[in-house]
Amino acid sequence: MPYIEDFLTANQEEEIVEAIRVAECDTSGEIRVHIEQRCDIDVYERAQDVFHILKMDNTKQKNGVLLYVAVDNKAFVIIGDHGINNAVDANFWNSTRDKIASQFKSSNFKQGIIDGVKEAGKVLAEYFPWEHGDSDELDNTISKG
Ligand code: CA
Ligand code: CA
Repeated sequence: MPYIEDFLTANQEEEIVEAIRVAECDTSGEIRVHIEQRCDIDVYERAQDVFHILKMDNTKQKNGVLLYVAVDNKAFVIIGDHGINNAVDANFWNSTRDKIASQFKSSNFKQGIIDGVKEAGKVLAEYFPWEHGDSDELDNTISKG
């Protein structure tokens, strides 16, 4: 896997941020992507830490979704807050994970992330439709650790 600086091109990053923006036009939910070089602990545990560090557990409706990528570990995790977890069944996260994984396997990292964002956006829109006066509670930019 490449260095984190080379993991995505600037254009690819822009495409991802745009995909998040578009997804959030249909939902009050918040989607974030966090990429870091390496994770020395269990990636799922680390993803939960990042979720907290990015204050993603502070959304009004508990409907934040994080896609976490550890480049060296060749690993990613997609997790949601209680609100969205209570609404969907585990199959949703599994099928979303499979979609991302199939792109990652071919080194299509940007497409994998965008597919994940779209899947999360779809299900968030279903359970947490966009409401008038909604605010962008969490920045759409990719965060790097
Ligand atoms: Ca919002
Ligand atoms: Ca946002």
